[in-house]
Amino acid sequence: MEIIIAQNSGFCYGVKRALHLTRDTDLKNRSRIFTWGELIHNPQVISDLGKKGIKVTTSLAKLKAGDTVIIRSHGISPSIYQALRRKRVKLIDATCPKVKEIQQKVERLSLAKKEIIIVGDRHHPETQGLLGYSRHQAIVIENEDEARALPFKKKRAILAQSTQDLQLFGKIVAILTEKTEELSVYNTICQSTRIRQEATARLASQVDALIIVGGKNSSNTNKLYEISRRRQPRTYFIESPQELTPGMVRETKIIGISGGASTPPEVIKKTVLAINNSCQQNQHQEKVTYD
Ligand code: SF4
Repeated sequence: MEIIIAQNSGFCYGVKRALHLTRDTDLKNRSRIFTWGELIHNPQVISDLGKKGIKVTTSLAKLKAGDTVIIRSHGISPSIYQALRRKRVKLIDATCPKVKEIQQKVERLSLAKKEIIIVGDRHHPETQGLLGYSRHQAIVIENEDEARALPFKKKRAILAQSTQDLQLFGKIVAILTEKTEELSVYNTICQSTRIRQEATARLASQVDALIIVGGKNSSNTNKLYEISRRRQPRTYFIESPQELTPGMVRETKIIGISGGASTPPEVIKKTVLAINNSCQQNQHQEKVTYD
């Protein structure tokens, strides 16, 4: 039995940075600490932060002057930023620099009065933040059908949420090229996401089963699941190693593992151990390699 871990599985740069800033703030700060929304989409990490007294809120009413509020890697809209400033809380901005670049692009396009199309998950905090930078004028598209429903337009700009599925973005661009006289395309899918998606797609065609590990509420981990499912029917999505069942590893010679940008490395290691245990019960020899 061989286990292959996909390249770039687990925490991305933006998530590592946000966690580092949060832990550093916890060490240095004596005030109450909140994150504006869950710091990352992973229940284990949120539970650990909760044990340290770091609370999650999206309610201004719960905050008082002097509290510390950490803005997560997804960023926030300018109106929430201003509202937090008015509350006189201490802000720690952990917005990923790559997300900041997309926010600035949306703001510039909005000032130039271009119609902006954001390919993203409508309710995802990053998309919500980007919408704010467009003064809520941008149109969010989640799938090809929504792109087909748009009317013909002379000029448009299109960009993506940083963790969007590259293949879906390409398909939507193709549809809108037919519906727009002058379409400006900005591929804002971050490199870390692109490498992880490509590695997962490659791995899905090499293995007998692929286990996607990560928070069920993580948009980018869900995308990895969809990408793998297109190539590998035996793709399983688990949030923790405890969810692994013997059926997932039965009659497999090579098993792949891939984790989203918010999946802690320990969870990936524990998944390898859980597969190993399951294989030992089935008397397989296990070997771990990295893509
Ligand atoms: S996925 Fe990319 S853009 Fe999003 S937080 Fe991670 S590094 Fe930043």
